[in-house]
Amino acid sequence: GVRPMMERSATSADLPYLDPALPVAERVDDLLARMTVADKVGQMTQAERAGVSSGEITEYRLGSVLSGGGSAPRTNTPAAWADMYDDFQRGALATPLKIPILYGIDAVHGNNNVHGSTIFPHNIGLGATRNPALVERIGAATADEVIGAGQDWTFAPCVCVARDDRWGRTYESFGEDPALVAEMTSVITGLQQRVLATAKHYVGDGGTTGGDDQGDTALTEAQLREIHLPPFRAAVERGVGSVMVSFSSWNGDKLHGHKFLLTDVLKTELGFTGFVVSDWAGIDQLDGKEGFTRAEVVTAVNAGLDMLMVPRDWQEFVGYLTEAVESGEIPMSRVDDANRRILTQKINIGLFEQPYADRSFAETIGSAEHRTLARQAVRESQVLLKNENDVLPLAKGGGKIFVAGKSADDIGNQSGGWTLTWQGESGDTVPGTTIVEGIRQAVGSGTQITYARDGAGVDTTYRAAIAVLGETPYAEYEGDRPAGLGLDDEDRAVLARLRAAGVPVIVVLVSGRPMDIAAEVAGWDALVAAWLPGSEGAGVADVLFGDHAPTGRLPMTWPKSPGQQPVNRGDGKTGLYAYGYGLTFADRTADGAAPSSPGTPTAPSITPTALRLRWMASTDTGGSGLDGYDVFRDGTLVGTTTSASYAVRGLGGAERYEFTVVARDKAGNRSAPSSPLVVTVRPTGCTARDDGCVAA
Ligand code: BGC
Repeated sequence: GVRPMMERSATSADLPYLDPALPVAERVDDLLARMTVADKVGQMTQAERAGVSSGEITEYRLGSVLSGGGSAPRTNTPAAWADMYDDFQRGALATPLKIPILYGIDAVHGNNNVHGSTIFPHNIGLGATRNPALVERIGAATADEVIGAGQDWTFAPCVCVARDDRWGRTYESFGEDPALVAEMTSVITGLQQRVLATAKHYVGDGGTTGGDDQGDTALTEAQLREIHLPPFRAAVERGVGSVMVSFSSWNGDKLHGHKFLLTDVLKTELGFTGFVVSDWAGIDQLDGKEGFTRAEVVTAVNAGLDMLMVPRDWQEFVGYLTEAVESGEIPMSRVDDANRRILTQKINIGLFEQPYADRSFAETIGSAEHRTLARQAVRESQVLLKNENDVLPLAKGGGKIFVAGKSADDIGNQSGGWTLTWQGESGDTVPGTTIVEGIRQAVGSGTQITYARDGAGVDTTYRAAIAVLGETPYAEYEGDRPAGLGLDDEDRAVLARLRAAGVPVIVVLVSGRPMDIAAEVAGWDALVAAWLPGSEGAGVADVLFGDHAPTGRLPMTWPKSPGQQPVNRGDGKTGLYAYGYGLTFADRTADGAAPSSPGTPTAPSITPTALRLRWMASTDTGGSGLDGYDVFRDGTLVGTTTSASYAVRGLGGAERYEFTVVARDKAGNRSAPSSPLVVTVRPTGCTARDDGCVAA
């Protein structure tokens, strides 16, 4: 198990499935042999927390509860969440076999349901970082904040490959390129250090005609496999514990009933051993009529669904599934297979050993360490698209800078959908730093910052004006924009004021996707795509004022006009900015971009006096090619190498070391330093939770 172990009171002598020393498969077999049909049906049922009580969990032996769309307990604190979780868990542990529930939530950019949590950039921004090692660390940090509030399962990551920006879920995608999305499944490895992850939505959710959410993906099998399957293959290879089915259809057939794709391809061909969960009331859609019938339950379960998200009508579902099993419409072997998959994951994450909330992780929620990590992600996700006359970076000392626009001082807009509520909202919704606050911190006292949302008061006494604008929050189909993605009237009015003042205009676009700006961009001096950066707006200021030279690259082709959609890498069309485009500052590069940062080094072999470091090879090295890597110990250069690995010897003088790596290209450009690897040499010995610790 990956959760910290607790002393157990139960006697595993009579109940082998409770014995953590036995192999997981043996425990599952033992448990399954003790289960009644009611137990098995219950495990396959997931109710929504607002429509189920702890007593009903006991009575119906339910296997799982979810919070849909961020629905929160009455007081939205980590402790209130953990109390609620424990209450449900007590219900599960009061059943004869004491099988704990899984509690699922959409922690899709941090544990975004819980007030005070760190809100990381949405996936689209993470795709722009091209830094899977950073994304893995974000997964691990998110997992800490999830178990800190008592939950043990997140419906993340969305590994959709978004092919049409008009789709309202584009920001949940790491990008339009299957290989990029597959690479970013590193987040699963981070998440599953402590909680169960979900790769969603299987399969083709980002490929619907016109970007229609829950629509139809009209592709040949070869295209579906080439564009939309690779991230799921990567997720399976990383051992993802669950996969959520897409609401969408493939050539007219709903995925929720698609035996070929769910069973033959996902489970048999890709070898997925976790469980398949439906999407929110997904089975209701199989026959196109309101609600669901027994026939729909039969179709879905026989197609390969293992757990059904039946938020409201779960009692009805329990009834239908029981009837279908008793009548033989659903074979017992199918039900056993589903249970085996679910129970294996429950045992794997250590739920039987520690069923209750582990409150020791509550202190990680919104911690300084996690906010620093989020700020780093924000920095690395900024994509510089235009920089006339090197107007960026802005100097910090002296003069006046004007800041305007609806998203300059709006943390809700920065965070986007899936932030406290399903759709998210504008305004002061979560703690953190807005972009204008970040700007004020960056410049210190020498420079005067004036902020007016509408741009009123700007004049030639200002050095520059920064306009922060773009989209306001939305989620799922509410964000579909079939007619395109133009700026709204408020944004246009602000831009008109700033331009009329005759000062250089820097546009920071806060949006979940490329927008239709081709007609306006000529009038701007600089353009930064900030995506949906989340709670740490200071990361945007870090780029504007040169504390971080931009390294972000477009995860999507930027279209010329709404009429050009869909436009994707390799389809022969020329957008406004190509996939992979991204500038950096003139004084930092000779040929367009610094090499990508080496991510976080690891230490695969380590002794008290020597260790070998390894990191991700820097493949992105601008035009000139890689020259080598510099390895630093506590800020001092200890060696250089051309391979992505280096042996450091002669340790032993200290107890703690910090290693970082910087990549250099042949034109002399240097990457941002890697995240540090901290190694502790502890004479008293290490515990399992001391990462990188070695006993002297
Ligand atoms: C979404 C899923 C989400 C689920 C539970 C659905 O509407 O499509 O992505 O995990 O709700 O909140």
